[in-house]
Amino acid sequence: MTETATPAPTAPAASPFGLFALRVARSTRLTPNMVRVALTGPDLSRMASAGRDQRIKLFLPAPGRTAPDLPDNSDGQWYAAWQALDPATRGYMRTYTIRTLDTERAELTVDFAVHGEEGPASRWALHARPGDEVGAFAPVVEDNAAYEFRPPADADWILLAADASALPAVAGILEHLPPAVPVRAWIEVPGPADHQNLPAGLDTHITWLTTAGSTPEAIAAADLPSGTPYAWVAGESSTVKAVRRHLVQGRGIDRRRVQFSGYWRKGASEDLLMEKNEAA
Ligand SMILES: Cc1cc2nc3c(=O)[nH]c(=O)nc-3n(C[C@H](O)[C@H](O)[C@H](O)COP(=O)(O)OP(=O)(O)OC[C@H]3O[C@@H](n4cnc5c(N)ncnc54)[C@H](O)[C@@H]3O)c2cc1C
Repeated sequence: MTETATPAPTAPAASPFGLFALRVARSTRLTPNMVRVALTGPDLSRMASAGRDQRIKLFLPAPGRTAPDLPDNSDGQWYAAWQALDPATRGYMRTYTIRTLDTERAELTVDFAVHGEEGPASRWALHARPGDEVGAFAPVVEDNAAYEFRPPADADWILLAADASALPAVAGILEHLPPAVPVRAWIEVPGPADHQNLPAGLDTHITWLTTAGSTPEAIAAADLPSGTPYAWVAGESSTVKAVRRHLVQGRGIDRRRVQFSGYWRKGASEDLLMEKNEAA
């Protein structure tokens, strides 16, 4: 599995990524369980996005503090610098997707699948107010390494499977695809009111699911288009693994054509996943 949930985020000296100090411009409850936060900052014109599933790191303030500590990136070693900051005050680092980036208006939007007050990022998004300060580690060039949706040129159709955490990435992927490319997508959300209007091509079929972990069964029951697919799967780790197993073992799809990423794991915070990844 692509370890996007638990990356080893070392950056080379001439990193095509940069650190950004940002403020909340506004926050909107998009659907009952999705909060869209628009962020702005003086140097957002430097940020770039490949679209698709463009991932970034967000730095959120520690409890009781108004701003996160941002690491020094002057030598390109921002992750080591972040680890060296005092864990009691540095705040939290979490992985998110660029939903939209408008460099002319200096606005970045991020959609947070909110899951209550337990996770610091979910809690932060639920209470985000204009002026709140955050940091981001994000690309400064469009052609960067921080996205996974890379279909081979000979793919006849695209299969997408996601939950709410990967819904912003699915929206980015659908926007990026030429309209003629057939797409079959399965998206798990908490309830029917969490459905979103998504960009659709000429042959895009989206199946919304409201039972957690039901995607593998739903795909298994589906008639899939003929031809060679490219599959992109992201969301809760165990569901992602089950979908991949079905596609590779059940459907005989070449494993190299199945891109899968655990975006979160039931019962584990992102900090724990990163610690485990470092220990491995
Ligand atoms: C490449 C990548 C891109 C991502 N893009 C987005 C994005 O655009 N929008 C988005 O909302 N998320 C996205 N995620 C997922 C997000 O990083 C995780 O959900 C993260 O754990 C949220 O942090 P937290 O502080 O809220 O919870 P944590 O402190 O990490 O976890 C606390 C508890 O909440 C549970 N939990 C974590 N996430 C969820 C969830 N989504 N639903 C239910 N329970 C959860 C954990 O299992 C744990 O028990 C992305 C992840 C990756 C790897």
